[in-house]
Amino acid sequence: MPHIICCVKQVPDPETPASQFRVDEAAKKVVPVPGIAPVPSQFDTIGVEAALRIKDKTPDTTITILSLGPESYRDSIKHSLAMGADEGVLINDPALYEADHWVTAQVLAAAIGKLAPFDLVICGRQAVDWDMGVVGSTIAEILNVPCITIAKEIQYKDGQVVVERVLLDGFETAESPAPCVVTVSNELGEPRYPQLRQIMAAARKEVKVWTASDLGLDAAQLKNLVSLERLYVPEVKVETEIIDGETPQEKAEKLALKLREAKLI
Ligand SMILES: Cc1cc2nc3c(=O)[nH]c(=O)nc-3n(C[C@H](O)[C@H](O)[C@H](O)COP(=O)(O)OP(=O)(O)OC[C@H]3O[C@@H](n4cnc5c(N)ncnc54)[C@H](O)[C@@H]3O)c2cc1C
Repeated sequence: MPHIICCVKQVPDPETPASQFRVDEAAKKVVPVPGIAPVPSQFDTIGVEAALRIKDKTPDTTITILSLGPESYRDSIKHSLAMGADEGVLINDPALYEADHWVTAQVLAAAIGKLAPFDLVICGRQAVDWDMGVVGSTIAEILNVPCITIAKEIQYKDGQVVVERVLLDGFETAESPAPCVVTVSNELGEPRYPQLRQIMAAARKEVKVWTASDLGLDAAQLKNLVSLERLYVPEVKVETEIIDGETPQEKAEKLALKLREAKLI
């Protein structure tokens, strides 16, 4: 009976209009936009979709959703349960709210250890807010299992994981014995959208809540390796230059010379 654990992070809605995006520079925090609810990170719902495609072929698969974050993360777990996952675990410990990627990976790895045995851990290739792109491979390193990154297709059969990976100029197929970690990319395809009936069923599915001590961890001993120096919205300066000329040809020639001067052509 395969067991797949999907790591799902909750992020500010990327569809938030740029004009409403605010950063509290003193607190080094993104200010939540009133009325716009956070959502599961897009690559993570694609990861849940990858797990569900395996479950479609092997129905006795159990899919566990794992999140580290505050109580509000429950909504993203419930969304994944409504998609068809079986159970959820939220690690909610105020001492971990400012965890960096290293502490995040340690805590998730400890939870995965507690949820063992497992065959596959699926993460997004990167979370769409901080875009570090490291938590999946760090979890694999801590658990001492293989990691295959940037998947567009995952197949699982008889303890073997076969992954089609996205390369800059094509695709390649990689294989690993289970257990292993796979990070997924958007090339995998659209995640399924939960039906009303599934949303109602998900409301009844249990979400376990653990703290660091439930995982045998002492939050005070978990030290961030990254310190956040500054969080700010970059200033974008746009300068416009109108190119004059008697004819369109003259304007085009002047434009071409400028582009060559700027080493753009
Ligand atoms: C000093 C410091 C303070 C910070 N304070 C905050 C803060 O107050 N609030 C805040 O939101 N962020 C904070 N961050 C950012 C947070 O630490 C990052 O989310 C973390 O470094 C992971 O990076 P990432 O999210 O880009 O992960 P990536 O490596 O891009 O994530 C890859 C994948 O790992 C999995 N994953 C990552 N995080 C989680 C999670 N929490 N639960 C489940 N799965 C997960 C997902 O599958 C995800 O797709 C802080 C960072 C630093 C350095």
